[in-house]
Amino acid sequence: MAAPIRSLLFYFVLSIFCRFKAISTLPIVVNTWPFTNATETGYNVFLTGGSAVDAVERGCSKCEVQRCDGSVGEGSDPDEEGEVTLDAMIMDGESMDVGSVGCLRNISSAISVARMVMERTDHTLLAGELATKFAVEMGFTESDLSSNKSDTMYKQWKTNNCQPNYRVNVNPDPKRSCGPYHPNTNIYRKETREDKGIGYLNHDTIGMVAVDKNGHVVSGTTTNGLNHKIPGRVGDSPIVGAGSYAQNGMGGAAATGDGDIMMRFLPSYTAVQLMGSGMSPSNAALSSIKPIIKYFPDFDGAVIAVNHKGEHGAACHGAGIGTFHYSVMDNPSKVNLFSVKCV
Ligand code: ASP
Repeated sequence: MAAPIRSLLFYFVLSIFCRFKAISTLPIVVNTWPFTNATETGYNVFLTGGSAVDAVERGCSKCEVQRCDGSVGEGSDPDEEGEVTLDAMIMDGESMDVGSVGCLRNISSAISVARMVMERTDHTLLAGELATKFAVEMGFTESDLSSNKSDTMYKQWKTNNCQPNYRVNVNPDPKRSCGPYHPNTNIYRKETREDKGIGYLNHDTIGMVAVDKNGHVVSGTTTNGLNHKIPGRVGDSPIVGAGSYAQNGMGGAAATGDGDIMMRFLPSYTAVQLMGSGMSPSNAALSSIKPIIKYFPDFDGAVIAVNHKGEHGAACHGAGIGTFHYSVMDNPSKVNLFSVKCV
């Protein structure tokens, strides 16, 4: 066979192989942290003919029920008044529909309420007490989200003069005393996040991306947010482009970490757009956190990124995390854990 024909044939076979290989990684479920039961639950949805939206909802629900790390679902991380509230979102990268709930009270299945917002309303985000009212209308049952654990955390925090504390420029001094607080005459001053005692041990989120065998990308998050947050606080997790983002033909991403900082930079949106322009998931995740580091060199956070072909990567920042672990399932035999060292 003539050399040019041989090399043409070689590249033809190679391109078929590469295409096959890319497709062979789908479907895939990827989520933050070693929450492997959630990954498996999400992936099993595909094995029984469910959609990527079902995979993300059920995978995240599993973590809510199992109270992954104490940071997801009810029963942990109370706010300043001892109440547990939840944030969640789900995004369909085909229709670009989104449903989110912020500061959801008295309903434990936040991701399922977020899905209701996506599928049963024209809105994107419902919050607080009125999100609870919506959930009840949609058939969810109200219950107290606190537990012995959250009650104990709350009491210890009060005994410890309400530390860590997220108030600034108020009297009495929030570094020493509990409230009620009133604004003082201080001018704005910056404090490091470490000064405020925000480390990865007082928060976490499951952020999940599922891609079905046809490349349909869906992302979601669910969390009880930041331990001892100010009542009414909504973190990054239910904010589109911050907590997660999905877009068919590009990919999906999700974030975990210091949400008050991260939401200002929309890292999930950034990572997805970079993958859309051809960047690898690992580089896209890294590039999405670089602008945050520039302004907040001590923030703790991580981003997972999955492109529409099922390639994945992650990046993280902060000594509090050190090494970030995430879970991947792209075949029925087992969940794999991946690790990245934080920059
Ligand atoms: N990002 C979440 C929040 O700030 C917490 C976390 O993922 O660690 O509410």
